[in-house]
Amino acid sequence: MTTTFPENQRAAARAAFGLFSPTQGRRIFDKQTGSGFEPKVIEVAPRTWFIQPGMVNVALFETDEGLLLVDAGCAGDGPSLLRAVRGLSDKPLHTVVYTHGHSDHAFGLWAFLEAGEAPQIVAHRDLPAHFGRYMKTSGLNARINGQLPGEDGKAWPDAPEDFVWPTVLFDDTLTLTIGGETFVVRHGKGETDDAAWVWAPERGVIAAGDLVTGYLPNAGNPKKVQRYAEEWATAAEEMAELRPEVVITGHGDPAVGVDAIVDELTTLAGYLRHVVDHAIQGLNEGVLPDHIVATLEVPERFRDHPRLPAIYDKAEFICRNVIRRYSGWWDGYPSHLLPSSQEQQAAEIAALAGGTGRLVERARELAATDVRLASHLAEWAFLADRSDSAAQDCYREVLESRAQAEPSLMAQVNLRISGAWVRSVSDSPASTSQ
Ligand SMILES: [Zn+2]
Repeated sequence: MTTTFPENQRAAARAAFGLFSPTQGRRIFDKQTGSGFEPKVIEVAPRTWFIQPGMVNVALFETDEGLLLVDAGCAGDGPSLLRAVRGLSDKPLHTVVYTHGHSDHAFGLWAFLEAGEAPQIVAHRDLPAHFGRYMKTSGLNARINGQLPGEDGKAWPDAPEDFVWPTVLFDDTLTLTIGGETFVVRHGKGETDDAAWVWAPERGVIAAGDLVTGYLPNAGNPKKVQRYAEEWATAAEEMAELRPEVVITGHGDPAVGVDAIVDELTTLAGYLRHVVDHAIQGLNEGVLPDHIVATLEVPERFRDHPRLPAIYDKAEFICRNVIRRYSGWWDGYPSHLLPSSQEQQAAEIAALAGGTGRLVERARELAATDVRLASHLAEWAFLADRSDSAAQDCYREVLESRAQAEPSLMAQVNLRISGAWVRSVSDSPASTSQ
């Protein structure tokens, strides 16, 4: 099954990942590895700039008293971001707000501190715990994010000195006055539990962090901690009520124009609430998780919205994330509660089919018409005999063709098994224990 990708969403898709560099993407915490691009700078309102040093966006507000910077990019973005800021203003860096603790938003500030700046650093009260989870699960995070060691030998920060910690924490709302001007920092959960966004009422500008990205929100990531689709919708609705003239997004292009912004934010909220309501209704009616996901239908007004293409996440993944939030890890099938190993099941299926060769053959036949179903047969063949090179090739090829049919980046990367993954599964002893 392939997913259609409307033509009007392609521009958003192209913009979504900004000045992305694959090299930096693999060394996201390395101070020496920048994007290699000159930052993109747009003056979106008087003394207000959208700055994109790489894959992520930063907001800069100049006041008479000093600068307010919202986010600081990846570690390697620090020097080019500093140069971009200094090309716009020579005012001191007064305040930095972290919109959340993610690797691509809260790690470039070191370059400003080394240059002698001493800003207050504002973050939501849950952000230090987010950094704490980074340290506790550095190996896991490095692995699931495909990270390689930087110059300091670390693929992921694992010690307190690897972070620039906030100096001011807030719970729900913090009103800052800088240069006589008001900036309101609001908490709102979304991709993370520590999210914050900034409203500059006198300029009509919101710096939204990843609460607004110009594509379907990252609310369902299959390998990451819980996301908060309902609160995400609430934050989007709150922003829409303010009727901003510009939203500086966490990724992709900024949103411009009151009507377009209100339309984007209310559609975003409606989309998320639609998925959440479907999942919760299914849970309340005792529907199995797989069936809840299989019966999710996304109305065209959400699916085809030019600022909500499913290029990163997928509605199905968001639905599963809601199910996980409100129920347990079990998918409800009795045999899956205390299952036989996948290898034992695959060996039995292969034996019944007449050998892994038959499974490979059928997987290749099915791949032409139903590559989703074909991937199960290819996986059984591979798990039944992991040393079988025909089964390995079939598995890789079927998953690759599935990946190619997917507009969602998360689906692509998780379907595309690497040679290293095949080897690591091949090398592990067959598990026969219950
Ligand atoms: Zn981000």
